[in-house]
Amino acid sequence: MVNLVITNACNLACPFCFASEYLADGAADAERMSLEQFRRHVAWAGGDTVRFCGGEPTVHPDFLELLALALDQDGRRAFIMTNGVWPDAVRRRLAELPTGQAVRITYLFNVLEPAFYTAAQAHMLDQTLAAPNPLAITLGLTLHRADQDVDHVFHRARRHGIRRIRYSVASPNATDPGSWLLDARRDFPALAALVHRVVMEGRARGLTVHSDCGYIPPCLFTDAQRRDLETPHPSAPGPAYTCNGPVDLGPTGEAWRCYGLYSVVRAHTREHADAASLHDAFERRAHELGDANLLFDECAACDWRARGQCAGGCYALRVTATARQHASGAGVDLADDESLRAAVPRLNAGAFHVTGGRLPVLMVREDGAWAPLDASPVEERLLGCCDGVRDVGALAVELARGLGRAVPVPEVARALRRLQGRGVVGWVAAPGRGPLA
Ligand code: SF4
Ligand code: SF4
Repeated sequence: MVNLVITNACNLACPFCFASEYLADGAADAERMSLEQFRRHVAWAGGDTVRFCGGEPTVHPDFLELLALALDQDGRRAFIMTNGVWPDAVRRRLAELPTGQAVRITYLFNVLEPAFYTAAQAHMLDQTLAAPNPLAITLGLTLHRADQDVDHVFHRARRHGIRRIRYSVASPNATDPGSWLLDARRDFPALAALVHRVVMEGRARGLTVHSDCGYIPPCLFTDAQRRDLETPHPSAPGPAYTCNGPVDLGPTGEAWRCYGLYSVVRAHTREHADAASLHDAFERRAHELGDANLLFDECAACDWRARGQCAGGCYALRVTATARQHASGAGVDLADDESLRAAVPRLNAGAFHVTGGRLPVLMVREDGAWAPLDASPVEERLLGCCDGVRDVGALAVELARGLGRAVPVPEVARALRRLQGRGVVGWVAAPGRGPLA
């Protein structure tokens, strides 16, 4: 399954944005897939469905042309993952599509609680939801807060005659502390109750309710909740306690295994003959990450895990939680840029090396093999000056000297979070500071 990320521009600000590490600051900075890149990536991805993803795919200025290209081939289908706040031209065009094309498009509308829309956005979403055939629509609900309102999804489904709901649990992005919203131990029991409620209420309303990315592991449901959810039901398949991460593919051929692992599990299409090969490589790497980052200590001896019934929780959640735990053990608050200023990073010897002669390539040890680190210029220089003695503030000054421009501490912090996620740096205990609570 390959999602074509045709742009990183977006016209909304979801509180749990899954793409926050890649999202453009504004339209001027946005990356956009060209028609030529799109043709190439569609051919490389194969399959009978072109999956549009973003940012918000419909704000791509050539979205309608790209969609026409996708439908150009007889029988090929399109799947559009969207926030529903569509430009008028897109809404008008899609409402007027000839039936032969309209029936080949399905939609996932990721919707938010009403408070997150301006009046104009709410109006646009409402108009959009009324445009396609309701049977082609799934409403997406992302769980990101234990006390979240979910009734709006049922209201929208009733109002527009939509029959399908997909729920997912928000995942964190390794380099963006603003996305570290959920703590499994603290929040998942309440979210388990919410999932139970959504599924039961959906069933009672005759809706098909299914899960997607992110999942609450079985140990966090009560026995009664689990029994209810696992009881076979025609409109709600039982929960899957595993993750089936997609390959997300950006304009230039950079690919990542789901946005949750955007900065941690990466490759380029040129390194793989086809999508199946890249997908397999991503799965191996994700499993290796999973083994190195357990969600709970109990996972090590868990029967559900041993039987293959639970994969042990979202990998992105596990990587982020472990990175924070390690940093916290050294007295470093990884979430806070200002406290990072005084923290001292150190290199993990043996976790990476430089190869490639005249064109040096940083290699990182992954999955028992060496893979390119794809370090940014800041990351490369950071690795060159990180000596286990100087703190982040001093390294920012050194980087500024080397790069010939100011390098703010938050930029260094972002680079360090990613490098820690890849296992390349750790932390020297700050003198006089005990572990954080
Ligand atoms: S690791 Fe799995 S559950 Fe976590 S964000 Fe990626 S696809 Fe979703
Ligand atoms: S493997 Fe871990 S997360 Fe999954 S059920 Fe067992 S203890 Fe829970």
